[in-house]
Amino acid sequence: MLFNNTQLERIAGAETPFYYYDLDLLNDTLDQVKAAADKRGFHVHYALKANFNERLLDLIQSKGFGADCVSGAEVQKSIDKGFTPEKITFAGVGKSDKEIITALKHGIFAFNVESIQEMEVINELAGEQNVVAHVSLRINPNVDANTHHYITTGLDENKFGVPTSELETAADVIRNATNVSLIGLHFHVGSQITDMNVFKSLCVKVNEWKNWFEDRGTQIRVLNVGGGLGVDYHDPDGNPIPDFEAYFDIFDKFLERSALHEVHFELGRAIVGQCGSLITRVLYTKSGLKKNFLILDAGMTELMRPALYQAYHKIEKVGFSDSQKEMIYDVVGPICESSDCFGKEVPLPESGRGNLIAIRTAGAYGEVMASNYNLREEVRYIYSDEL
Ligand SMILES: *Cc1c(COP(=O)(O)O)cnc(C)c1O
Repeated sequence: MLFNNTQLERIAGAETPFYYYDLDLLNDTLDQVKAAADKRGFHVHYALKANFNERLLDLIQSKGFGADCVSGAEVQKSIDKGFTPEKITFAGVGKSDKEIITALKHGIFAFNVESIQEMEVINELAGEQNVVAHVSLRINPNVDANTHHYITTGLDENKFGVPTSELETAADVIRNATNVSLIGLHFHVGSQITDMNVFKSLCVKVNEWKNWFEDRGTQIRVLNVGGGLGVDYHDPDGNPIPDFEAYFDIFDKFLERSALHEVHFELGRAIVGQCGSLITRVLYTKSGLKKNFLILDAGMTELMRPALYQAYHKIEKVGFSDSQKEMIYDVVGPICESSDCFGKEVPLPESGRGNLIAIRTAGAYGEVMASNYNLREEVRYIYSDEL
Protein backbone atom coordinates (compact mmCIF):
# COMPACT_ATOMS: atom_id res chain seq x y z
CA MET A 1 0.00 0.00 0.00
CA LEU A 2 1.32 3.39 -0.98
CA PHE A 3 -0.41 5.30 1.84
CA ASN A 4 -1.53 4.42 5.36
CA ASN A 5 -4.93 5.54 6.65
CA THR A 6 -3.72 8.78 8.20
CA GLN A 7 -1.94 9.72 5.00
CA LEU A 8 -5.04 8.85 3.01
CA GLU A 9 -7.08 11.27 5.10
CA ARG A 10 -4.46 13.95 4.60
CA ILE A 11 -4.38 13.66 0.84
CA ALA A 12 -8.15 13.32 0.49
CA GLY A 13 -8.52 17.05 -0.03
CA ALA A 14 -5.21 17.70 -1.80
CA GLU A 15 -5.22 19.37 -5.15
CA THR A 16 -4.35 16.90 -7.88
CA PRO A 17 -2.41 15.94 -9.87
CA PHE A 18 0.80 15.88 -7.85
CA TYR A 19 3.97 13.85 -7.58
CA TYR A 20 4.32 12.03 -4.30
CA TYR A 21 7.91 11.39 -3.19
CA ASP A 22 8.67 8.76 -0.57
CA LEU A 23 11.85 10.13 1.01
CA ASP A 24 12.24 7.12 3.31
CA LEU A 25 12.39 4.81 0.31
CA LEU A 26 14.87 7.11 -1.41
CA ASN A 27 16.96 7.16 1.76
CA ASP A 28 17.00 3.34 1.96
CA THR A 29 17.82 3.07 -1.75
CA LEU A 30 20.72 5.48 -1.37
CA ASP A 31 22.06 3.60 1.65
CA GLN A 32 21.95 0.32 -0.25
CA VAL A 33 23.59 1.60 -3.41
CA LYS A 34 26.26 3.37 -1.36
CA ALA A 35 27.04 0.32 0.76
CA ALA A 36 27.24 -1.95 -2.29
CA ALA A 37 29.49 0.51 -4.17
CA ASP A 38 31.76 1.38 -1.23
CA LYS A 39 32.36 -2.28 -0.54
CA ARG A 40 33.91 -2.63 -4.00
CA GLY A 41 35.60 0.76 -4.14
CA PHE A 42 33.20 1.96 -6.86
CA HIS A 43 32.19 5.61 -7.32
CA VAL A 44 28.56 6.53 -8.02
CA HIS A 45 27.48 9.74 -9.70
CA TYR A 46 23.78 10.48 -9.69
CA ALA A 47 22.40 11.34 -13.14
CA LEU A 48 20.52 14.57 -12.45
CA LYS A 49 18.45 14.36 -15.59
CA ALA A 50 16.36 11.54 -14.06
CA ASN A 51 15.00 13.96 -11.46
CA PHE A 52 16.34 17.28 -10.19
CA ASN A 53 13.61 17.92 -7.64
CA GLU A 54 15.09 20.03 -4.82
CA ARG A 55 14.67 17.76 -1.84
CA LEU A 56 15.64 14.64 -3.75
CA LEU A 57 18.88 16.35 -4.74
CA ASP A 58 19.48 17.52 -1.17
CA LEU A 59 19.18 13.99 0.13
CA ILE A 60 21.36 12.51 -2.62
CA GLN A 61 24.03 15.18 -2.14
CA SER A 62 24.03 14.70 1.64
CA LYS A 63 25.05 11.06 1.17
CA GLY A 64 28.20 12.01 -0.72
CA PHE A 65 27.26 10.99 -4.26
CA GLY A 66 28.75 12.71 -7.28
CA ALA A 67 26.65 14.36 -9.99
CA ASP A 68 26.39 13.37 -13.63
CA CYS A 69 25.15 16.30 -15.70
CA VAL A 70 24.01 16.67 -19.29
CA SER A 71 23.68 20.46 -19.54
CA GLY A 72 25.38 23.58 -18.25
CA ALA A 73 22.33 24.31 -16.13
CA GLU A 74 22.60 20.89 -14.50
CA VAL A 75 26.27 21.58 -13.77
CA GLN A 76 25.27 24.90 -12.18
CA LYS A 77 22.43 23.23 -10.28
CA SER A 78 24.71 20.60 -8.79
CA ILE A 79 27.17 23.30 -7.71
CA ASP A 80 24.31 25.27 -6.12
CA LYS A 81 23.15 22.13 -4.34
CA GLY A 82 26.58 21.58 -2.82
CA PHE A 83 27.96 18.74 -4.93
CA THR A 84 31.74 19.15 -4.96
CA PRO A 85 33.18 20.05 -8.40
CA GLU A 86 35.62 17.11 -8.09
CA LYS A 87 32.60 14.84 -8.29
CA ILE A 88 30.79 16.47 -11.21
CA THR A 89 30.91 15.10 -14.74
CA PHE A 90 29.40 16.66 -17.84
CA ALA A 91 28.20 14.48 -20.73
CA GLY A 92 26.08 15.10 -23.83
CA VAL A 93 26.51 15.14 -27.62
CA GLY A 94 25.78 18.84 -28.01
CA LYS A 95 27.53 20.92 -25.37
CA SER A 96 27.39 24.60 -26.30
CA ASP A 97 30.38 26.93 -25.84
CA LYS A 98 28.52 28.67 -23.03
CA GLU A 99 27.91 25.38 -21.23
CA ILE A 100 31.53 24.30 -21.64
CA ILE A 101 32.73 27.64 -20.22
CA THR A 102 30.38 27.26 -17.21
CA ALA A 103 31.83 23.83 -16.49
CA LEU A 104 35.43 25.02 -16.98
CA LYS A 105 34.88 27.91 -14.57
CA HIS A 106 33.69 25.52 -11.89
CA GLY A 107 36.64 23.16 -12.47
CA ILE A 108 34.50 20.05 -12.73
CA PHE A 109 36.00 16.57 -12.50
CA ALA A 110 35.63 15.66 -16.17
CA PHE A 111 33.91 16.25 -19.47
CA ASN A 112 32.63 13.10 -21.11
CA VAL A 113 33.52 14.03 -24.66
CA GLU A 114 31.40 12.68 -27.49
CA SER A 115 33.20 13.76 -30.66
CA ILE A 116 36.61 14.83 -31.96
CA GLN A 117 35.27 18.24 -32.87
CA GLU A 118 33.97 18.73 -29.32
CA MET A 119 37.41 17.77 -28.00
CA GLU A 120 38.97 20.50 -30.14
CA VAL A 121 36.46 23.09 -28.93
CA ILE A 122 37.04 22.19 -25.26
CA ASN A 123 40.80 22.42 -25.86
CA GLU A 124 40.41 25.87 -27.37
CA LEU A 125 38.06 27.20 -24.66
CA ALA A 126 40.20 25.73 -21.88
CA GLY A 127 43.21 27.44 -23.50
CA GLU A 128 41.42 30.80 -23.33
CA GLN A 129 40.85 30.23 -19.60
CA ASN A 130 44.39 28.97 -19.06
CA VAL A 131 43.23 25.68 -17.63
CA VAL A 132 43.63 22.04 -18.54
CA ALA A 133 40.29 20.25 -18.85
CA HIS A 134 40.05 16.63 -17.78
CA VAL A 135 38.21 14.58 -20.33
CA SER A 136 36.90 11.06 -20.65
CA LEU A 137 36.27 9.83 -24.14
CA ARG A 138 32.77 8.47 -24.64
CA ILE A 139 33.10 5.39 -26.75
CA ASN A 140 30.16 3.94 -28.59
CA PRO A 141 30.83 0.25 -27.97
CA ASN A 142 28.08 -1.16 -30.21
CA VAL A 143 26.40 -3.10 -27.39
CA ASP A 144 22.69 -3.78 -27.75
CA ALA A 145 20.94 -2.89 -24.49
CA ASN A 146 17.87 -4.99 -25.38
CA THR A 147 15.65 -2.14 -24.29
CA HIS A 148 13.22 0.19 -26.05
CA HIS A 149 14.92 1.63 -29.17
CA TYR A 150 14.30 5.19 -27.96
CA ILE A 151 16.43 4.54 -24.87
CA THR A 152 19.16 2.49 -26.57
CA THR A 153 22.29 4.58 -26.92
CA GLY A 154 25.24 2.24 -27.51
CA LEU A 155 24.66 1.03 -31.06
CA ASP A 156 26.65 2.16 -34.10
CA GLU A 157 23.52 3.80 -35.47
CA ASN A 158 23.07 6.01 -32.36
CA LYS A 159 24.29 9.61 -32.16
CA PHE A 160 26.17 9.09 -28.90
CA GLY A 161 29.91 8.80 -28.36
CA VAL A 162 32.91 8.55 -30.65
CA PRO A 163 32.55 5.70 -33.13
CA THR A 164 35.30 3.13 -32.64
CA SER A 165 36.48 3.72 -36.22
CA GLU A 166 37.56 7.24 -35.18
CA LEU A 167 39.42 6.37 -31.99
CA GLU A 168 42.82 6.36 -33.68
CA THR A 169 42.26 9.96 -34.82
CA ALA A 170 40.80 10.91 -31.42
CA ALA A 171 43.90 9.57 -29.65
CA ASP A 172 46.12 11.69 -31.96
CA VAL A 173 44.07 14.81 -31.35
CA ILE A 174 44.29 14.31 -27.58
CA ARG A 175 48.05 13.74 -27.72
CA ASN A 176 48.52 17.04 -29.53
CA ALA A 177 46.05 19.06 -27.46
CA THR A 178 47.72 21.19 -24.79
CA ASN A 179 44.62 22.06 -22.77
CA VAL A 180 42.86 18.72 -22.45
CA SER A 181 44.09 15.72 -20.57
CA LEU A 182 42.59 12.30 -21.08
CA ILE A 183 41.78 10.68 -17.76
CA GLY A 184 39.30 8.03 -18.70
CA LEU A 185 36.91 6.22 -20.96
CA HIS A 186 33.16 6.60 -20.78
CA PHE A 187 30.40 4.23 -21.86
CA HIS A 188 26.62 4.39 -21.48
CA VAL A 189 24.66 1.89 -23.54
CA GLY A 190 21.06 2.60 -22.65
CA SER A 191 18.45 2.81 -19.95
CA GLN A 192 16.03 0.50 -18.13
CA ILE A 193 18.36 -2.45 -18.65
CA THR A 194 17.22 -5.50 -16.70
CA ASP A 195 19.25 -8.17 -18.50
CA MET A 196 22.58 -8.41 -16.64
CA ASN A 197 24.18 -10.00 -19.73
CA VAL A 198 24.10 -6.56 -21.32
CA PHE A 199 26.43 -5.28 -18.60
CA LYS A 200 28.61 -8.36 -19.01
CA SER A 201 29.01 -7.56 -22.73
CA LEU A 202 29.76 -3.97 -21.80
CA CYS A 203 32.59 -5.10 -19.48
CA VAL A 204 34.15 -7.07 -22.33
CA LYS A 205 34.14 -3.94 -24.51
CA VAL A 206 35.48 -1.72 -21.73
CA ASN A 207 38.39 -4.14 -21.19
CA GLU A 208 39.11 -4.19 -24.90
CA TRP A 209 39.23 -0.42 -25.28
CA LYS A 210 41.11 0.17 -22.05
CA ASN A 211 43.79 -2.21 -23.30
CA TRP A 212 43.76 -0.58 -26.71
CA PHE A 213 44.65 2.79 -25.19
CA GLU A 214 47.10 1.43 -22.65
CA ASP A 215 48.89 -0.62 -25.33
CA ARG A 216 49.43 2.68 -27.11
CA GLY A 217 50.98 4.26 -24.06
CA THR A 218 47.97 6.14 -22.68
CA GLN A 219 47.27 5.20 -19.07
CA ILE A 220 43.54 5.18 -18.36
CA ARG A 221 42.55 6.11 -14.80
CA VAL A 222 38.75 6.25 -14.91
CA LEU A 223 36.55 3.53 -16.31
CA ASN A 224 33.13 5.15 -16.42
CA VAL A 225 30.55 2.52 -17.30
CA GLY A 226 27.54 4.87 -17.26
CA GLY A 227 24.14 4.02 -15.83
CA GLY A 228 21.12 2.22 -17.19
CA LEU A 229 20.22 -0.22 -14.44
CA GLY A 230 16.47 -0.80 -14.66
CA VAL A 231 13.70 -0.85 -12.06
CA ASP A 232 10.67 -3.12 -11.70
CA TYR A 233 7.78 -1.18 -13.20
CA HIS A 234 5.47 -4.17 -12.81
CA ASP A 235 5.98 -4.81 -9.11
CA PRO A 236 7.01 -1.61 -7.31
CA ASP A 237 5.97 -2.95 -3.89
CA GLY A 238 7.67 -6.33 -4.39
CA ASN A 239 10.91 -4.81 -5.69
CA PRO A 240 11.15 -1.28 -4.32
CA ILE A 241 14.97 -1.27 -4.43
CA PRO A 242 16.98 -2.62 -7.37
CA ASP A 243 19.48 -5.40 -6.72
CA PHE A 244 22.59 -3.25 -6.58
CA GLU A 245 24.67 -6.14 -5.23
CA ALA A 246 24.01 -8.26 -8.32
CA TYR A 247 24.60 -5.29 -10.60
CA PHE A 248 27.94 -4.26 -9.09
CA ASP A 249 28.99 -7.91 -8.88
CA ILE A 250 28.96 -8.11 -12.67
CA PHE A 251 31.45 -5.27 -12.95
CA ASP A 252 33.50 -6.57 -10.05
CA LYS A 253 33.82 -9.93 -11.80
CA PHE A 254 34.16 -8.99 -15.43
CA LEU A 255 35.95 -5.65 -15.47
CA GLU A 256 39.73 -5.99 -15.57
CA ARG A 257 41.19 -3.40 -13.26
CA SER A 258 44.30 -2.69 -11.24
CA ALA A 259 44.95 -0.29 -8.37
CA LEU A 260 45.46 2.38 -11.05
CA HIS A 261 41.85 2.22 -12.17
CA GLU A 262 38.74 3.83 -10.68
CA VAL A 263 35.33 2.54 -11.70
CA HIS A 264 32.60 5.15 -12.03
CA PHE A 265 28.85 4.68 -12.43
CA GLU A 266 26.15 7.16 -13.43
CA LEU A 267 22.87 5.87 -12.08
CA GLY A 268 19.63 7.78 -12.49
CA ARG A 269 16.50 5.68 -12.77
CA ALA A 270 17.69 2.96 -10.40
CA ILE A 271 18.09 5.55 -7.63
CA VAL A 272 14.92 7.63 -7.95
CA GLY A 273 12.50 5.56 -10.06
CA GLN A 274 10.57 3.86 -7.28
CA CYS A 275 10.34 6.75 -4.82
CA GLY A 276 7.92 8.74 -6.95
CA SER A 277 4.27 8.21 -7.86
CA LEU A 278 1.96 10.45 -9.79
CA ILE A 279 -1.28 10.92 -7.84
CA THR A 280 -4.27 11.93 -9.90
CA ARG A 281 -8.06 12.01 -9.69
CA VAL A 282 -10.67 10.53 -11.94
CA LEU A 283 -12.49 13.39 -13.61
CA TYR A 284 -14.93 11.37 -15.67
CA THR A 285 -15.76 7.85 -16.68
CA LYS A 286 -16.99 7.10 -20.15
CA SER A 287 -18.18 3.93 -21.82
CA GLY A 288 -17.53 3.72 -25.52
CA LEU A 289 -18.87 0.97 -27.75
CA LYS A 290 -16.02 -1.37 -26.87
CA LYS A 291 -14.18 0.41 -24.08
CA ASN A 292 -14.52 1.88 -20.64
CA PHE A 293 -12.45 4.99 -20.15
CA LEU A 294 -11.14 6.50 -16.96
CA ILE A 295 -10.36 10.13 -17.69
CA LEU A 296 -7.81 11.51 -15.25
CA ASP A 297 -6.76 15.02 -14.31
CA ALA A 298 -3.13 14.09 -15.08
CA GLY A 299 -1.87 13.55 -18.58
CA MET A 300 1.22 13.29 -20.74
CA THR A 301 2.05 16.84 -19.63
CA GLU A 302 2.76 15.50 -16.12
CA LEU A 303 4.15 12.07 -17.11
CA MET A 304 5.32 11.72 -20.67
CA ARG A 305 6.90 8.26 -20.65
CA PRO A 306 3.83 6.28 -21.78
CA ALA A 307 3.22 8.67 -24.70
CA LEU A 308 6.91 8.98 -25.57
CA TYR A 309 8.14 5.39 -25.25
CA GLN A 310 4.95 3.38 -24.80
CA ALA A 311 6.32 2.80 -21.32
CA TYR A 312 4.41 0.68 -18.83
CA HIS A 313 3.52 2.10 -15.41
CA LYS A 314 1.52 0.22 -12.80
CA ILE A 315 -1.79 1.96 -12.24
CA GLU A 316 -3.59 1.53 -8.92
CA LYS A 317 -6.69 2.80 -7.25
CA VAL A 318 -5.66 4.59 -4.05
CA GLY A 319 -7.35 3.61 -0.77
CA PHE A 320 -10.23 1.28 -0.17
CA SER A 321 -12.77 0.60 -2.81
CA ASP A 322 -16.49 0.74 -2.05
CA SER A 323 -17.11 -1.52 -5.02
CA GLN A 324 -15.89 -5.11 -5.26
CA LYS A 325 -16.41 -5.08 -8.98
CA GLU A 326 -13.34 -5.25 -11.22
CA MET A 327 -13.47 -3.34 -14.47
CA ILE A 328 -11.23 -3.07 -17.50
CA TYR A 329 -10.35 0.52 -18.35
CA ASP A 330 -8.34 2.50 -20.81
CA VAL A 331 -6.78 5.06 -18.48
CA VAL A 332 -6.31 8.36 -20.29
CA GLY A 333 -5.40 11.99 -19.64
CA PRO A 334 -7.12 15.25 -20.61
CA ILE A 335 -4.63 16.37 -23.26
CA CYS A 336 -5.76 16.73 -26.85
CA GLU A 337 -3.59 13.91 -28.21
CA SER A 338 -4.50 10.27 -28.75
CA SER A 339 -1.12 9.25 -27.34
CA ASP A 340 -2.18 10.78 -24.01
CA CYS A 341 -2.93 7.37 -22.53
CA PHE A 342 -1.40 5.84 -19.39
CA GLY A 343 -2.57 2.30 -20.00
CA LYS A 344 -4.87 0.24 -22.16
CA GLU A 345 -7.14 -2.49 -20.80
CA VAL A 346 -6.05 -2.00 -17.23
CA PRO A 347 -7.92 -4.11 -14.65
CA LEU A 348 -8.95 -1.90 -11.70
CA PRO A 349 -11.60 -1.88 -9.00
CA GLU A 350 -14.61 0.02 -10.33
CA SER A 351 -13.77 3.70 -10.10
CA GLY A 352 -15.61 6.95 -10.48
CA ARG A 353 -15.39 10.70 -10.42
CA GLY A 354 -13.23 11.94 -7.53
CA ASN A 355 -11.43 8.65 -6.86
CA LEU A 356 -7.67 8.85 -6.49
CA ILE A 357 -5.42 6.89 -8.82
CA ALA A 358 -1.68 6.31 -8.39
CA ILE A 359 0.66 5.87 -11.33
CA ARG A 360 3.62 4.14 -9.80
CA THR A 361 7.38 4.15 -10.41
CA ALA A 362 7.26 7.71 -11.70
CA GLY A 363 10.26 9.09 -9.83
CA ALA A 364 12.58 8.97 -12.84
CA TYR A 365 11.95 10.89 -16.07
CA GLY A 366 8.56 11.99 -14.73
CA GLU A 367 8.43 15.43 -13.16
CA VAL A 368 11.51 16.54 -15.11
CA MET A 369 9.81 15.87 -18.44
CA ALA A 370 6.65 17.79 -17.52
CA SER A 371 5.58 20.41 -20.03
CA ASN A 372 3.02 23.18 -20.15
CA TYR A 373 1.54 22.04 -23.44
CA ASN A 374 -2.14 23.04 -23.44
CA LEU A 375 -1.00 25.73 -20.99
CA ARG A 376 -1.13 23.23 -18.18
CA GLU A 377 -0.28 24.36 -14.66
CA GLU A 378 3.17 23.72 -13.26
CA VAL A 379 3.33 20.27 -11.75
CA ARG A 380 2.94 20.00 -7.95
CA TYR A 381 4.65 17.63 -5.55
CA ILE A 382 4.26 16.43 -1.96
CA TYR A 383 6.97 14.75 0.13
CA SER A 384 6.24 11.83 2.44
CA ASP A 385 7.30 13.77 5.54
CA GLU A 386 4.64 16.38 4.79
CA LEU A 387 1.88 13.81 5.24
C1 LIG B 1 20.73 9.33 -18.93
C2 LIG B 1 22.13 9.03 -18.66
C3 LIG B 1 22.47 8.30 -17.52
C4 LIG B 1 21.46 7.76 -16.54
O1 LIG B 1 20.71 6.73 -17.09
P1 LIG B 1 19.74 5.85 -16.18
O2 LIG B 1 19.17 4.85 -17.13
O3 LIG B 1 18.72 6.76 -15.61
O4 LIG B 1 20.58 5.20 -15.13
C5 LIG B 1 23.81 8.07 -17.29
N1 LIG B 1 24.76 8.54 -18.13
C6 LIG B 1 24.46 9.25 -19.23
C7 LIG B 1 25.54 9.73 -20.10
C8 LIG B 1 23.13 9.51 -19.53
O5 LIG B 1 22.84 10.20 -20.63
